[in-house]
Amino acid sequence: DDRISRIGSTIRVIPDFPKPGIMFQDITTLLLDPKAFKDTIDLFVERYKDKEISVVAGIEARGFIFGPPIALAIGAKFVPMRKPNKLPGAVISEEYSLEYGTDTMEMHVGAVQAGERALVIDDLIATGGTLCAAIKLLERVGVDVVECACVIELPELKGRDRLGDKPLFVLVSSA
Ligand code: IMP
Repeated sequence: DDRISRIGSTIRVIPDFPKPGIMFQDITTLLLDPKAFKDTIDLFVERYKDKEISVVAGIEARGFIFGPPIALAIGAKFVPMRKPNKLPGAVISEEYSLEYGTDTMEMHVGAVQAGERALVIDDLIATGGTLCAAIKLLERVGVDVVECACVIELPELKGRDRLGDKPLFVLVSSA
């Protein structure tokens, strides 16, 4: 699919952001190219439109860019998975480990119902810790997480292994 190589070419790499040694994959340049942005959404929509998904769960912050257009196109609701103390209503939380320390992800109570089928979306998978926390939050309330999807995977960090048998779909693999 030549859409994939075009998408890959629009992603910018910024060395030493946010700290020395990190090669940051910047999807804001993908968003500047309307065809690449549309192709990105279309590829996800083509994959998920007939999978009876009722929830697209987007991870803060860049899952909020890709998730809503997919949700609208497949007729699913969009649920934000947020950093702590951002959501105004009652939440359930899941703590997860980072390279140094921990972080917490939150979701509104009542946003999803047991038995719903979810797609979890983010811009990028590195170690997989973030997606794992999202899966746990949704599964704790009885949601069936059908698949996780990202624009970019950093395969060297083996985040895919951390997801166990949960399917992961990515458009671009980055060295
Ligand atoms: P993980 O939990 O180690 O898989 O890290 C993935 C999370 O960190 C996602 O929410 C990403 O948005 C963010 N992230 C890590 N590295 C990058 C990067 O190079 N570009 C953009 N986001 C990144």
